[in-house]
Amino acid sequence: MAFVNENFLKLPVSYLFTDIARKVAAFQKENPTAQVIRLGIGDVTQPLAPAVIEALHKAVDEMAKKETFRGYGPEHGYAFLQQAIIENDFLPRGIELEMDEVFVNDGAKSDTGNIGDILGLQNTLCMTDPIYPVYVDSNAMCGRAGDLRDGAWSRILYRPCNAENGFVPALPEQAVDIIYLCYPNNPTGTVITREQLKAWVDYALANGSIIMYDAAYEAYIQEEGIPHSIYEIEGAKRCAIEFHSYSKTAGFTGVRCGYTIVPLELEATTASGERVALNPLWNRRQCTKFNGTSYIQHRAAEAIYTPEGKRQVRETIQYYMGNAKIMREALTAAGMRVFGGVNAPYIWLQTPDGLTSWQFFEQLLSGPHIVGTPGVGFGPSGEGYFRLTAFGDRGDCERAMERLTKWLGK
Ligand code: PLP
Repeated sequence: MAFVNENFLKLPVSYLFTDIARKVAAFQKENPTAQVIRLGIGDVTQPLAPAVIEALHKAVDEMAKKETFRGYGPEHGYAFLQQAIIENDFLPRGIELEMDEVFVNDGAKSDTGNIGDILGLQNTLCMTDPIYPVYVDSNAMCGRAGDLRDGAWSRILYRPCNAENGFVPALPEQAVDIIYLCYPNNPTGTVITREQLKAWVDYALANGSIIMYDAAYEAYIQEEGIPHSIYEIEGAKRCAIEFHSYSKTAGFTGVRCGYTIVPLELEATTASGERVALNPLWNRRQCTKFNGTSYIQHRAAEAIYTPEGKRQVRETIQYYMGNAKIMREALTAAGMRVFGGVNAPYIWLQTPDGLTSWQFFEQLLSGPHIVGTPGVGFGPSGEGYFRLTAFGDRGDCERAMERLTKWLGK
């Protein structure tokens, strides 16, 4: 007889974006003429950069000839991309990395979800709240999160992020083993300062904790002085794994490519107290369960680092950040309390009149026909907040703000 992994049965039955899609479909069925504007799911809308398209075509042509055809790639990814990553994303920030520390992947979701494979189930968890749901759910799936009670997992220490603490939580009072941080943050669109990040690194070093640092939105940072990588902080290589994604940086949500940094000096402890390096364990895990990202995807990602690729990718990022500015200004002028949207493509607003996130969702859908994401879907502390994305078309974004302003009576 085969037994099920009962941890899966503890997960909430439906997924946030499935719930939203269901509610929007029901509304559209009842109101077929309503022009709904979707500012909910965090997917990009603008096409790939011309430099990326050119690289893709070229790589496909290489696959068509016997002499240049490629099969399985190297375990860590092709050296040309690892090199480009080190030279462009890290060296200019004073961070030196070995090629073996860079693991090319098919996007940050896989690795942020899978990284727990190399860490013991007895580890205690600390999550900022609200949070990208993959960190919580992937730990719940293997049993590390405990049980779900009143919307919170019993073995997770939640650190609330709200307007009062500027969306950077207080350090835990007790020792925790694994900490998930994501800055610039999804869903709140807020950032962490160097001093605040240093406090987390110092905490992790003092307590033997490991920080999972998700930097998927670092390319959106506009202001000087905000850290793009946790390794800008001294000592972070001894306590942090960092995840990067080309999804939002270069519109790769459908292409699929990203990378993870597992420093060679990063260690964790066995039950008998021995220190063990994590980089070889992650390498072993990837060699066993992952067969790499295609050569074609690698060449597409490499093109982002060429001078024209950099310029084109930047232009698209600025287009989205232009949307964010329009949204921030319109919402603020309409009297809403707005956060984020300065160094990240997400706007996080406080729901008016004490409405719950889902009440505001319903009202926004039935009133100005705008779809956003209820904050509570990202964790208990998201209640009373609402997320709008800046990844839409400019026209949609402007129309949405006009409707919203009119609806709010401003
Ligand atoms: N990390 C964060 C914080 C995200 O918001 C997302 C996607 O929305 C991801 C990781 C996953 O990105 P990818 O498309 O690279 O899997």
